Amino acid sequence: PLPVLAVIGRPNVGKSTLVNRILGRREAVVQDVPGVTRDRVSYAADWAGRNFTLVDTGGWERDVKGLASRVADQAEIAIELADAVLFVVDATVGPTDTDSYVVNLLRRANKPTILVANKVDDQRGEADAAMLWSLGLGEPFVVSALHGRGAGDLLDAAMALL
Ligand code: GDP
Ligand code: MG
Repeated sequence: PLPVLAVIGRPNVGKSTLVNRILGRREAVVQDVPGVTRDRVSYAADWAGRNFTLVDTGGWERDVKGLASRVADQAEIAIELADAVLFVVDATVGPTDTDSYVVNLLRRANKPTILVANKVDDQRGEADAAMLWSLGLGEPFVVSALHGRGAGDLLDAAMALL
């Protein structure tokens, strides 16, 4: 079986946009309205001659359990299934309590993880990304999934974990 790279994070941080960027095509559903991607969707992906399975996550619905708990459920399942994880955070928002909770899940699962600081569309955003050191996952990988900034370096780093 191919190695599995899972993309996790809160709704609207740009997970599906990043997945599309990695796939080089528009396939994962991107929406301005959070919660459009249902549960987990797997794609056949490749980078630098390596084939792997890329898993997009979502599945948040406005139900009784509330946002944080749905994100955590999805993250937990995806972490379990993955060989390595891209944990995407919106650099323009900064770290949230939900992000810290997911960090704890990642620690417990002991999965190789890259912290992705998304929505750094230009140089000015780099300062925002520095706030993400506080999550304790080391240096954030600065990208703009929308424009492709930093995506190649991120994938090179991800391949080293698979
Ligand atoms: P998901 O819920 O985490 O899958 O997020 P989506 O990929 O659906 O993106 C949510 C919104 O953020 C959409 O409006 C995207 O166009 C926008 N977005 C995603 N990546 C970036 C980025 O790098 N920069 C900016 N400015 N917007 C982004
Ligand atoms: Mg999505």
